[in-house]
Amino acid sequence: MAIRRIRTEGEDILRMHCKPVKEITESTRKLIDDMFDTMYSANGVGLAAPQIGILRRIAVVDDTQGNKVALINPVITFSEGEQTCTEGCLSLPGYQGEVVRAKKIRIESLNEKGEPVTIEAEDFFAVVCQHEIDHLDGVLYKDKAENYRRQEEQQQ
Ligand code: ZN
Repeated sequence: MAIRRIRTEGEDILRMHCKPVKEITESTRKLIDDMFDTMYSANGVGLAAPQIGILRRIAVVDDTQGNKVALINPVITFSEGEQTCTEGCLSLPGYQGEVVRAKKIRIESLNEKGEPVTIEAEDFFAVVCQHEIDHLDGVLYKDKAENYRRQEEQQQ
């Protein structure tokens, strides 16, 4: 296990497109373990590979409500509805803003074993997944946010 350094705004890698994972190896699984460790140590609910300097389509999510998942080459294949959530990001520390996202989504992904999986997500879980998948294309939530601002109170 290892905690990796989280990249913050201004570092070019956060704006780059990530490449698909071609082969899931022991080092992929080690990377995913490190991503979870890094996310938990920063009290985050999601982390995407470019946030630790890796340009691969991998993200991890633990919404603290029972939904914990590693996403490899995730694609959103269905979405419906709308919800507005106050978001923050480990790469934009100390800021928050409201983002409108789909209420319910379906994701086609690979799991750590390289098996195709379909994930149905709604509400907060769906918000976190959409936020992390955006990172894989160099998109930050602030690009979509209303009232992007410094956090006044405790972190979300
Ligand atoms: Zn983020």
